[in-house]
Amino acid sequence: MTDCVFCRIIRREIPANIVLETEKVLAFHDINPEAPTHVLVIPKKHIANIRDEKLSTDPDLTTEIFQAIQKITSDLGLAEDGFRVVVNCGENAGETVHHLHFHLLGGRELTWPPG
Ligand code: 5GP
Ligand code: ZN
Repeated sequence: MTDCVFCRIIRREIPANIVLETEKVLAFHDINPEAPTHVLVIPKKHIANIRDEKLSTDPDLTTEIFQAIQKITSDLGLAEDGFRVVVNCGENAGETVHHLHFHLLGGRELTWPPG
């Protein structure tokens, strides 16, 4: 998608602080962090959201996403104290970028329930 901000990051048209890149996945620090560590993990092909069939019919991609989450949370030292993985979907969840992304949030105590 030409005008999608995350597709533009993948094409390196917009700079980002990248923490991991694999064949199918890119991860980078959120520009507006909500926690001391706030990383976004995204598929490198445009997938609209977590309900998109392009996700549920691509087992190699889902495997790579979860491998990336496990590697990043180890590498960035989030695993021991704990962290949260968030996917916002739709208006009620406050989704603003319509390219699937997994928020990894850590480095502080996180309250529950979310707002
Ligand atoms: P959502 O609200 O859709 O779940 O999350 C979108 C996230 O993308 C937000 O946390 C926002 O700060 C982040 N974001 C939006 N534009 C950019 C950008 O250009 N670069 C980076 N690194 N993050 C962005
Ligand atoms: Zn996109």
